[in-house]
This record gives sequence, C-alpha cells and structure tokens, in this order.
Amino acid sequence: MSSSPKVTDALIDPGNDPRLRFERVDRCLCGGNLLEGPIWEWMICGGCGTWVNTKRPTEESLGIVYGETYWTTTQALVGAPPLERRFQLDMNDRIPVYLKQLTPHLPATARIGELGCGNARLLHELKGMGHEVVGTEYDAGLIARLAQLTEVPIQRGGAELFESASFDAMLSLDVLEHLHDPAAFLREHQRLLKPGGLLLLHTPVHERANEPYRYSVGLLWKLYHLYLFSRQLLDEMVDAAGFEVIADEARMFGWPIFVLRKR
Ligand SMILES: [Zn+2]
Repeated sequence: MSSSPKVTDALIDPGNDPRLRFERVDRCLCGGNLLEGPIWEWMICGGCGTWVNTKRPTEESLGIVYGETYWTTTQALVGAPPLERRFQLDMNDRIPVYLKQLTPHLPATARIGELGCGNARLLHELKGMGHEVVGTEYDAGLIARLAQLTEVPIQRGGAELFESASFDAMLSLDVLEHLHDPAAFLREHQRLLKPGGLLLLHTPVHERANEPYRYSVGLLWKLYHLYLFSRQLLDEMVDAAGFEVIADEARMFGWPIFVLRKR
C-alpha cells in the first residue's frame, strides 16, 4: 500500500489535493514589495495595500481547483451552502441589490454575458426581465447541475467563445479575486463589450490595508482567493482596462458594487 496522498484526500481538504501544483508570487500586481501578512501565505503590498496570496495553484491547476470538488467539498469547508441552495438564498441578499444597481443603466433589451457565472441567479433574473443572457463555466459537471436550476444557456469555456463588441452588459461577481491576471480579465471584458457597454463588478475591495483582518476565514482561505484588492489598485486596473466608474455607492458584504462603463 502506498502512503502517498490520494485524490480522495481532497474531499477532506482540497488544499491537499495531490493533483495541484503551486507557485510562489513575490510581487504585487502593482509592482510593489510584499510585507509580512497575518495568516497562511498572505502578504500585504507595501505600495498599494493589496493582499496577495503568495502560494497559489498554477494556471494549469485552476481547472482542478474549480472542478468537481469546488461546488461541493470546498464550499462546504468554508461553510457555504450547496450551489442549489445558493441559487435560492442569493435572492435574499445580493441579487436584489445587484438588480437595483444595474437595471437603471440597461437598455430595454440588452445582451448580457457572465464569464464564470456560478449559480447564474442574476442572469436567471435578467432573462426573466426579457434580456438575452449567456453564462460560461469550465466544468461540465457544474454546467449539468445548472441546467437543472435554470434555462439560462451556459457555455463551456471563457472569453474566447465570444465576438468582440457583442455585449451590452457583462457581470463579474466574485471572480476577479480568483484569477492570476485580473487586469487581463478586465481587458477581455472591455473587448467583449460594445462602446458604452456596462460591467457590473463585485470583488473584495478595501480602502485601508488593515481592513481584511476582519474578513472571514472563508475569504482568507488560502487556496481560492489570490488577491484581496486595495481600492487604489482596483481603480488603477479599471482605468487601465478602459473603463470609468459610473456607480460605486452601494455595498454588499462590506465592499462596493461597481457599475463600470466602457470608455
Ligand atoms: Zn500593490
């Protein structure tokens, strides 16, 4: 019998999944030096205040991270309900707030996309309002589960599936903080949007570098959030990607809900 780690160990702690490969990060996205952080592999940028997860799964490993274990074991480990329950529960808090922020800016019938749509509840509501919607996810098992919940079409893949300037609006909720290259992800949205198109963006953002100390263990949990952005860095990335902020006053879970417009 081998004593080496097995894939089934991931059912206990996905951070121990032996299929994952990790890499070190030694700089902030802004180029700033990293200072010691409070827990696990988190460090804090001395330049912009962004929190950086300095031990992260490689880009190739992200398909495993967001594969079969993510919407079951991983979510359960941080105390989050299963996907199907979240589809219902999200109507109790976040979805009405997102709708209130976004819909005043939308044309009567918009084409709306979401890359990494999760439980797709916001797309589901927008479809019910008469908009044309499409979501994407990478995992076939997740897409099959979503098909039981909603008639929103979910395509397998990402930004490469779509033509440039083909959306009136896009949504990005709880995705940016999971990515190796969030600036590139914002630029992809800029490409996919029509001139003047909108991006509803929600990701953990702090005004002061010490704010994330009060974040939950789930948010800081070492594996799946790669960045917790300072407002300074987020503003710089948004501007560099060709967006302007047209609304940021509403907050959910303590951080702003941004409505961005393609310049
Ligand atoms: Zn920085």
